[in-house]
Amino acid sequence: MFNKRVKIKDLLATEPKGQEVTVMGWVKGFRQNQFIALNDGSSNNNLQVVVELGTQDEATLKRLTTSASIKVTGELIPSLGKGQKMEVKAKTLEILGDSNAEVYPIQPKKHSLEFLRENAHLRFRTSTFGAVFRVRHTLAFAVHKFFNDKGFVYMHTPIITASDAEGAGEMFRVTTLPADNPPRNEEGGIDYKEDFFGKSTNLTVSGQLEGELGATAFGEIYTFGPTFRAENSNTARHLAEFWMIEPEMAFYDLEDNMDLAEEFIHYIIKYALEHNREDIEFLAQRLAEEEAALPKEKRSEMGLMEKLDFVVNNKFERITYTEAIDILLQSPAYKKKKFQYDVKWGIDMQSEHERYLVEKHFKKPVIVTNYPKDIKSFYMRVNDDGKTVAAMDILAPGIGEIVGGSQREERLDVLIQRMKDMHVPVDELSWYLDTRRYGTVPHAGFGLGFERLILFVTGMTNIRDVIPFPRTPKNAEF
Ligand code: ATP
Ligand code: MN
Repeated sequence: MFNKRVKIKDLLATEPKGQEVTVMGWVKGFRQNQFIALNDGSSNNNLQVVVELGTQDEATLKRLTTSASIKVTGELIPSLGKGQKMEVKAKTLEILGDSNAEVYPIQPKKHSLEFLRENAHLRFRTSTFGAVFRVRHTLAFAVHKFFNDKGFVYMHTPIITASDAEGAGEMFRVTTLPADNPPRNEEGGIDYKEDFFGKSTNLTVSGQLEGELGATAFGEIYTFGPTFRAENSNTARHLAEFWMIEPEMAFYDLEDNMDLAEEFIHYIIKYALEHNREDIEFLAQRLAEEEAALPKEKRSEMGLMEKLDFVVNNKFERITYTEAIDILLQSPAYKKKKFQYDVKWGIDMQSEHERYLVEKHFKKPVIVTNYPKDIKSFYMRVNDDGKTVAAMDILAPGIGEIVGGSQREERLDVLIQRMKDMHVPVDELSWYLDTRRYGTVPHAGFGLGFERLILFVTGMTNIRDVIPFPRTPKNAEF
């Protein structure tokens, strides 16, 4: 049998008593013709493999280059050297795959994140990205665990949709029509009747509308899947393809919605700290070193571990949009004209405003509620004041918006009026309106961008570094 190997992570948690073990992995380093640092991706920690002098031929030793893959069988013994508790004394050593160190792009030195992004196909083998993507996995697992434990139904909403209710202009078209010479209708436009689905279709920007159909049958559902936005915003917080978590709950009002979102974020950070502390500590160390090189005013006030503990142990601040605008108008930043964009009631807050509230004023995550209805979507419930809607955004330090949600408009007549006012096609969304026609209920939900959450937990600063293969304007490599 080939695969009787022990994973290095498991092995490092056992007691070394001279037992025979088989390990496989990639060479991280080889020094003094004796000591191999071996990594198999199960953990950031390497296993030390000792090749006793004279036990292997020179030709084999020469092939122990960075990233060569090997199989080792030997004795697991307490280490004589400092720096590790145990080591494997190699009995047999087999090279599984050579790696030409002269051309292997990832050298055993510190590479910039930009360089590694260009080599994203190999960056998983670095300590930083190994840690980031193991944390990503832990967080994904925690998402499912949280909702499953609460009895939510995991719902798969469609990736190809025909509804252009939301985000017009931000959508990627899906078509099988020839790009160079599509069939035309009588008006000279593209004839989508000839297209694969017989109509114009696109990649989903959100699973929410379908999610509401699930919530008004199962009570509580969540989605967790890929989402696509052709927004040409080349920022460190936007991807063209990202993963979104969208719970939708019947019998919830705005406050229930906020409580759930806060509990959810607390839970999954705590879960990651409990189940993958090692990788997060490594990333905290990395961030501390990175920040040490910055001028003092650019450094974070808290280290990553401290920040995560703080967030888990403190309630989020909750303020209304109106209060938020007042705080901004009273702020020294506003008075000293430090904001690039103007502040007044009715604006869609810019990221500089959000960051001021979160990083300077409250110094913790903030939930902003009851936004002006003119800047929010048609499905958000209109408040009694007639001016605002029962929306809530959660803003996080260093990230900005991490969650966007609302109580949904459950009153058919109000909803139809809103759709008309906002030029949302009522006929096309008749299926959606059926939830309001047949046993409508108060309900609410939110969307959380998975990569923004990973940024928060890992302390990484560019969203391209927390998704394996980022899709951004002018980039669809790998
Ligand atoms: P932003 O103002 O930051 O563009 P948004 O208002 O467009 O966000 P929503 O439509 O409310 O965001 O989407 C819900 C969540 O999805 C956001 O809170 C955010 O966490 C995430 N998100 C939105 N757009 C992107 C994107 N392009 N890349 C990654 N995550 C995103
Ligand atoms: Mn956006």
